[in-house]
Amino acid sequence: MTAHTENVDPNEIAKFERMANRWWDTEGEFKPLHDINPIRSNYIDQRASVADKSLLDIGCGGGILCEAMAQRGALVSGIDMGKAPLEIANLHKLESGLEIDYQQSTAEELAEKKASAFDIVTCLEMLEHVPNPQAIVESCAKLAKPGGDIFFSTINRNPKSYAMTILGAEYLLKLLPKGTHEYKNFIRPSELSMWLRNAGLEIMDISGISYNPLSRSFYLNPNDVDVNYLVHAKANC
Ligand code: SAH
Repeated sequence: MTAHTENVDPNEIAKFERMANRWWDTEGEFKPLHDINPIRSNYIDQRASVADKSLLDIGCGGGILCEAMAQRGALVSGIDMGKAPLEIANLHKLESGLEIDYQQSTAEELAEKKASAFDIVTCLEMLEHVPNPQAIVESCAKLAKPGGDIFFSTINRNPKSYAMTILGAEYLLKLLPKGTHEYKNFIRPSELSMWLRNAGLEIMDISGISYNPLSRSFYLNPNDVDVNYLVHAKANC
């Protein structure tokens, strides 16, 4: 094992490989990602105006965010360590008629080859699946141009997030397969903020994504970071 592959959990990659052929099924296991995609795409575009900018998506999976960003005119590259999700992403972009450069790579590896190369770096719903999320934050900081925009999203760690994402989504509603998330890997906003500051990034905003059970819809909520939340940071000039 090289230094680079140490920050990859093979069990986590295998989980996503097994589900990959259902990645674009909007009623399947990835329904929550499809449901929140317009919210996070708007958030990123409003804060960083993605058109004509180079954007790197780390842990891109089947390409749900990459495609939304390419549709808005960004020049998109996506990396993931899962082979099957990348195959799905490559097939789907042909159907959508979009140009996106997908590569199998870790963030650490790419950071050595392409330091300060991207206007925008996104890493959504991935930090909670890696052994050392702080190292991913550092790589994101390296990959962004000075003054570039960096976005993360992940799940907070508290009884409510446990109830919503593991008990609710995996056990009661069976929206997600059991074992999709490990509670201990969830990340508090205070922890992520500390890693961002240690990596020399400036935190611009933290906003939550709340769920309305009546309308069964998600919405951006700056006052509720209890479960899923987005962070916008800037690389220092
Ligand atoms: N970011 C996408 C997919 C999230 S699912 C979205 O929000 O739509 C998490 C993805 O992270 C999976 O595709 C998985 O293969 C990938 N992943 C997990 N650990 C990784 C690592 N260390 N390096 C790169 N990708 C990783």
